[in-house]
Amino acid sequence: MKQGAEPAPGVLYLVGTPIGHLADLSERARSVLAGADVIACEDTRHSGQLLSSLGAVGKRLSFHQHNTRGRIPQLLELLSQHQSVAVISDAGLPGISDPGEELVAAAREAGRQVICIPGPCAATTALVSSGLPSGRFCFEGFLPAKGKDRRERLKAIAADPRTTVLYEAPHRLLKLIEELSDHCGGERPLQVARELTKRHEEQVGPTIAAALTHFSSHKPQGEFTLVLGGAQEPAAIEHDDQHWLEELNKLIHQGLSANAAAKQLAQSSGRAKRELYALLHTEGSTTDGQGSD
Ligand code: SAM
Repeated sequence: MKQGAEPAPGVLYLVGTPIGHLADLSERARSVLAGADVIACEDTRHSGQLLSSLGAVGKRLSFHQHNTRGRIPQLLELLSQHQSVAVISDAGLPGISDPGEELVAAAREAGRQVICIPGPCAATTALVSSGLPSGRFCFEGFLPAKGKDRRERLKAIAADPRTTVLYEAPHRLLKLIEELSDHCGGERPLQVARELTKRHEEQVGPTIAAALTHFSSHKPQGEFTLVLGGAQEPAAIEHDDQHWLEELNKLIHQGLSANAAAKQLAQSSGRAKRELYALLHTEGSTTDGQGSD
């Protein structure tokens, strides 16, 4: 499909940048950053080298968690003046544990077009390389630092059957793995991705206990993303007809009619009443002549 020229006037672009390997910056990201009128950077100094290497000439504005509220009206005003605005964070996708979310919401509310130039993201990179189920997953990012909020989040994560992806700073990694061990047990699958896309990329796992042993003797250094296996769903116990017949007979011996016994068991077991009732009338069923109706 033929695409229009980018960057287009009055459009807000969210541009994914590398999380380590510089060659992961896409061609499209390069051309949007090179041509944008304004580039909102989480840290203008951090991104300065990258932008200069692309020959980006757009006006650079800082856009971080401490000036988000103040900057948003200014960026919306620039969009309304038909300027193209690109947003980048220090690494990865803006809006994922990085500034961007509030600006996008405000831009959409103001009727501005928002386009994401997709790029690397530590969460999805760690997830797909973990070997853990990726069909259903939950991104938790950084947990609340401490207290009740943190404990409650850990409790919810421990009970969640989906794979969970977490970010953590190196100096807090061991504590987080210890807490995961307390809440989920040491045998729960865990894959800790270190320094993704970089020279010293490595994976530590395959369980919480194994990661705990490893990082107790190897001081965590670099950047980490954790991928935690989900809680086991309680196995649905399959009972055969003989089991249900015995349960029906117990109820009948307690004085219920066959009809009432089938109804009560249907409610507690989820099996159809009609099927349960039919069991009482199959050959070899023993109702001792009681309770038939
Ligand atoms: N927006 C970014 C993204 O799309 O991945 C995430 C920004 S968040 C402030 C930074 C955290 O992401 C790090 O503390 C670490 O947990 C994780 N992270 C970033 N780069 C990483 C890498 N190369 N390897 C492993 N984890 C990484």
